[in-house]
Amino acid sequence: MDTRPVFEIQKKGVLLHRLVYILFLLQRVLLQMLQREVSLVNTTIVIAIIIVFMTVEEVLYSKNYFDNVRCIQVFRYVQCLLSSILIGFIQIQDGSEVCVIALPLLFMLDFFLTMGIVDKSKLISYSAMVGGPIVLLIMVKILFTPEYNWLLLLFDVLIILVIIFFEAYFFVECFEKIEKQFFSQNRKVEDVIEKNEKILRMQEKVKKTNEQLTLQKVDLQKANSLIQTANKEMMAQAEILRYISMSFDLSKISNQITDAIMVVKQLSFCGVYIKEGAYLNNHASYVIKTTIGQLYQKIKSSLPEIYELMVNDDIMELTLYDEDTNQVPFLQNVNINSVYIKVLRTDEETYGLFIIGDNRKGLFKENMSFYDAIITQYDIAIHNARIYAEMQQMARKDGLTGINNRIYFNELFATEMQRVIEEDTHMSVALFDIDKFKSVNDTHGHLAGDEVLKRIAFVTENCIEKYNGFVCRYGGEEFVVALPNMKLEAAYTIIEELFDELCSQVVKYNEFEIPISVSIGLTSYPEICKRQDELLKRADWCMYYAKKHGRHQINVDDGSIESI
Ligand code: GH3
Ligand code: MG
Ligand code: MG
Repeated sequence: MDTRPVFEIQKKGVLLHRLVYILFLLQRVLLQMLQREVSLVNTTIVIAIIIVFMTVEEVLYSKNYFDNVRCIQVFRYVQCLLSSILIGFIQIQDGSEVCVIALPLLFMLDFFLTMGIVDKSKLISYSAMVGGPIVLLIMVKILFTPEYNWLLLLFDVLIILVIIFFEAYFFVECFEKIEKQFFSQNRKVEDVIEKNEKILRMQEKVKKTNEQLTLQKVDLQKANSLIQTANKEMMAQAEILRYISMSFDLSKISNQITDAIMVVKQLSFCGVYIKEGAYLNNHASYVIKTTIGQLYQKIKSSLPEIYELMVNDDIMELTLYDEDTNQVPFLQNVNINSVYIKVLRTDEETYGLFIIGDNRKGLFKENMSFYDAIITQYDIAIHNARIYAEMQQMARKDGLTGINNRIYFNELFATEMQRVIEEDTHMSVALFDIDKFKSVNDTHGHLAGDEVLKRIAFVTENCIEKYNGFVCRYGGEEFVVALPNMKLEAAYTIIEELFDELCSQVVKYNEFEIPISVSIGLTSYPEICKRQDELLKRADWCMYYAKKHGRHQINVDDGSIESI
C-alpha cells in the first residue's frame, strides 16, 4: 500500500505540534504574567522542552529524515511519551488536570492513528474512546469545580479543540486521498480484471478456434489421405489399363496387376491363377506376390484346388476373416486375418482365380471398387489375349490343313537352328511333294484334293511330333519336316516311317478311294549341309531328284547333288 498519505499526515502533525507548543507557551506566559503563583521553573521547563522538541523536529525535517515514515513514527512516539510525562507532571503542579489527562490521550490517539490508519471505523472508535473521557472531564471540571483556574481551562480546552480539530481535519483529508487512491486503484484493478477477463475470453475463443482448426486439420488430413489413396488407385488402374491396351502377354499383365495391388494396398499376398487353355495357353499361369516368403509355393500348389472347389460349389466370391481363414489350405498356422477370393470369369466361362490376403483384420468389407475395376480389366485382358492368340494361331497355321504355315515354320526353324548351332548338335530336314497330285484334282475335283492335303498334313504332324520335330505346309502340295537333334541316319528311320504311313493312306471321297504317294528328299546338318541355309535347298534338290527318278521314294542326300 502507498504510504504517501500517512507520510503527509506525519508532516502536518509536525505543524500541529508547533501550534500546540505555541499555545502551551502562550498559556505559560499568560499564566506567569497574570497569576504569580504559577511556578516559573515549570514554565521554564515547559518552554525548554518545547524548544528542544521544536529544534529536534526542525533538524530532522531539514535533514530529510521525515521522508522516512518509520523515522517520523519513532520520533513522534518518543515525543508523545516524553511530552506526556513531563508536561503532565508540570501541568498537574499548576492544577491543569484536564490538560494532563487530555494531552496523553490525544497523543495516544495521534500515535495510534499515525502508526497505521487503515479505515474510518478505526478512526471513529479511537476518537470516541479518547474524546469521550476528555469531554466528560471538562464537563465535570466546569460543573463541580467553581474555583477552577479559568484561564488554564480556557487554554486547555483551546489546545484540545485545536488538536481534535486539526487531527480530524488531517485524517479526513488523508482518508479522502486514501479512498481516491483506493478507488483509482480499484478502478485500475477492475480495469485489469476486465481486461484479464477479455483476454481470458479471447483465449477461450482462440482455444475453441484452435480446437476447431485441429479438428478441421484432422478431417483435412483424412480427406487428403483418402484423396492420395484414391489417386494412387487411379494411377495404378490407369497404368494397368495402359499396359493392358499395349500388351497381349497375359503373364506380364498379371505381373503388372499384382505388383500394382501390392504397392497400392500393401497386402501380405496377392495371386492370380489362370487355368490352362483360358487364352489358348498351353500351361496354367500363376502369378503370386507375397511378403511372406514361405507362402509362395503353398499358394501356387493350392490355387487350382481352390478354383475347382469354388467352381464346383458355384461360389464365385468368398471373403474370410480371422479363424475362418484357416479354411484356406495354405493359411493354416499363418497370421492372415482377411482373405478375399474371386473366381475369374468371362460371360461364357470361368477361367481362373484371384486371391488377396493380409494380416490386418476386417479388410475387404468395403471399398472393393479398386479390385472390381482391376478384375474387370483383367477380363478384358484375357479376352484380348485370347483374340490375340487366335489371331496368332491363324497367322501361323495353314488355313486348309491346320498345320504350321511356311512363315511360322521359318520362324521356328531359325530359332531351332540357332540353338542347334549353339549346342553343336544336328538338324535333319525332309521335304516332300505329293506325286501326281494334279491328276487327283483333275479326276476327283479340288475338294477331293483338299481332303488328300488334310490327311497328309494330319498324318505327318502326328508322326513327326512324336520325335519332337515340326512340320509345315511349305506350299501347294509340298510339305517340310524338321527333326532337330537328329542325325541323318536316325532321321532316315523316322522319314521312312512317315513315308510308309503316308503311302498306306487311302482317302475316301464320295464313292472313290484315293491312294497317296509322295516323293521325299532328306538331308542333314552338319553331316551333309555345312551351312544352315543349305538345308532346305538341298532337301528340295533331293526331292526333285526322287521325282526325276521314278517318284514314290525317299532320296537321302549324300552330298553329290549339286543342283536340280
Ligand atoms: P508331280 O508328281 O510331278 O509332282 O506331279 P504333280 O501333278 O503333283 O505336279 P504339278 O506341279 O503339275 O501339280 C501340282 C498341283 O497341285 C497343281 C495344283 O492344282 C495342285 N494344288 C496346289 N495347291 C492345291 C490346293 O490347295 N488344293 C488342291 N486341291 N490342289 C492344289
Ligand atoms: Mg509340286
Ligand atoms: Mg506333286
